[in-house]
Amino acid sequence: MSAFWHPFAAMHSVRDNPVTITRGEDVWVYDDAGTRYLDGTASLWYANVGHGRREIVDAVAEQLGRLEAYSTFTDFTNEPAERLADEIAARAPLDGGKVFFTSGGGDSIETAAKLAREYFGAIGEPQRTVLLHREHSYHGTHGLGTSLAGIPGNRLAGPFVPDVVQTPWDDAAGLEKAIVDLGAERVAAFFCEPVIGAGGVLPPPEGYIEAAAEVCRRHGVLFVADAVICGFGRLGDWFGVERFGVRPDIAVFAKGVTSGYQPLGGIVASERIAAPFWDTPGRMFRHGQTYAGHPAACAAGSATIALMERDGLLARADELEPQLLERLRGIADHPLVDHARGGTGVLGALAFDPERLAGAPDLPQRVFRAARERGVLIRPMGSAVGFSPPLTTTAEHLDLLAEVTAAALDDVA
Ligand code: PLP
Repeated sequence: MSAFWHPFAAMHSVRDNPVTITRGEDVWVYDDAGTRYLDGTASLWYANVGHGRREIVDAVAEQLGRLEAYSTFTDFTNEPAERLADEIAARAPLDGGKVFFTSGGGDSIETAAKLAREYFGAIGEPQRTVLLHREHSYHGTHGLGTSLAGIPGNRLAGPFVPDVVQTPWDDAAGLEKAIVDLGAERVAAFFCEPVIGAGGVLPPPEGYIEAAAEVCRRHGVLFVADAVICGFGRLGDWFGVERFGVRPDIAVFAKGVTSGYQPLGGIVASERIAAPFWDTPGRMFRHGQTYAGHPAACAAGSATIALMERDGLLARADELEPQLLERLRGIADHPLVDHARGGTGVLGALAFDPERLAGAPDLPQRVFRAARERGVLIRPMGSAVGFSPPLTTTAEHLDLLAEVTAAALDDVA
């Protein structure tokens, strides 16, 4: 047994049956025995352009061959970082965006939370420190992200940072009540996944995102869109909030920005939020990780964007959105299933019947394993199994995903 300690894994059971993935090709991945699996989850919600894309691999290799990396602290820079920052800012739904790079989603949440508080400190409202988040939310596993976790099991490592308050996941009036009860002058930012992902694939109720953004605007609270899952095509646009007509103050991205070809994340801050740090002599945002603007990671980002645009993957996501939901609804009458969720982006879930789940809390795990035995990868979540296939998925792949999931449900019924 290797010394490799897996994230989010009960190592005692991993010990007996690790699955070693050795290569990937479009929507397929292969293990070390040569078994082929349909990737029904785009790995961990990130392989939006599919596996094994030569164009991205070549762009990364070319950059590594020229310069693997050099720090971007202070006034050092590199061309891939500058290019990708401009490409992202040009596609982001906020005004005059400035892009701060990190190594992943959790880093980026920390960055957004610190920036929100420091922004208010810089403009003379240092009492605005409270960070709001939603029930069921997932914002990574770093310090602030753990504090902002709406999934109770992810908060076990407390104590948490002060001034973090949870709001209902689905009710903008509840958000406003929380702000008013706290005193709006104390609230810095509201963190919001356009569709809650790891918390169970929960599309927002009609009008919720728009109303929540309006509540934030009215009370001077920054709206932080966590587009780590929802961005880069998953909802058919770049930042997952465009379809709601919302212009966030800060947008957080990771995962799909490189489709997993390199670790990369970041935030886009609107011109207003960046201004105190860009326009005030001597004022800096004292924050940043060693690999911020890593040239090979940024080269992967630019190549991913180019490939998405060449292959029309945003439009493809719009086509897949109803097709995935239709397939899931087609198996939602299974006795183990309560209902199908989805229809906002290429994201879906089958929620288990609460009574069956009460008798067998490991149902999601068992269905996931049964589907894997049959060559299809889906995601077990608290009370559901989830689906987020690559955007290159075809109708035939969706048929296979649904067929095998139905068979896996039968296997464990
Ligand atoms: N935010 C959201 C919405 C996520 O789904 C995730 C990871 O799944 C993160 C933040 C954290 O990203 P990372 O795992 O890259 O730290």
